Amino acid sequence: MDDILHNLQVINSRIEAACMKSHRERSEVKLLLATKTVTPDRIIKAIEAGYNLIGENKVQEVKEKYEALKGISHTKHFIGHLQTNKIKDVIKYGVTCIETVDRIELAQKLHQRLFSENKTMEVLIQVNTSHEESKFGANPDDAIELTKQASQLETLKIKGLMTIGLFSAETEKVRSCFRLLKNIQQQIVALKIPHVEMKELSMGMSGDLETAIEEGATIVRVGTAVFGKRIYPDSYYWNENK
Ligand SMILES: *Cc1c(COP(=O)(O)O)cnc(C)c1O
Repeated sequence: MDDILHNLQVINSRIEAACMKSHRERSEVKLLLATKTVTPDRIIKAIEAGYNLIGENKVQEVKEKYEALKGISHTKHFIGHLQTNKIKDVIKYGVTCIETVDRIELAQKLHQRLFSENKTMEVLIQVNTSHEESKFGANPDDAIELTKQASQLETLKIKGLMTIGLFSAETEKVRSCFRLLKNIQQQIVALKIPHVEMKELSMGMSGDLETAIEEGATIVRVGTAVFGKRIYPDSYYWNENK
């Protein structure tokens, strides 16, 4: 388990270096631990080391780990594709932010449920900046309209945008995804939509967090570089149907 502590230090240094390079404060960038497939004992190790923001992809895993993590102070985001029939459980098992609102139908169903339970939820609007079929997220051209529509649903606290960048060794192509997200954020900010906060940009993972930070990320989501390789391909975790 010492590997986790070591890996966290390495990631922290990478974040610090990227902040320095882009003249940003370290405090502007939150590290979210992508904990899919990671067992509670390993997650607890990371939380106890001071990294208390985690993100899960599957509602099933949120449920399974709930009891084990309940007594340990942490914040949990949902970062996977969310089917409307699982909304109930996401709300029930302590998720405070859904980073993957990518369609109005989901926003509406989420609102209905929250409203009936007299609750609110932080959300990010997920944008498909890489135009890859396999990834979820609103089309960049529709993201502003989706944000406007979702802003009418008063239980949803819109905090910003999220994207999964292109998987490519070509940094500049990956960068253009992050730049696009930043660009959409700025357009939305300029519209001054009531009840919409656009502070958060969740982008960047183990392989591309430096580029994301240079382009304005406020949340980087890191899994492999902290917990090691997973046995399933990522596509498995981005598709709730599988
Ligand atoms: C798994 C996952 C990550 C982390 O990916 P790594 O390459 O393991 O760092 C980030 N975001 C989402 C949405 C994920 O599913």
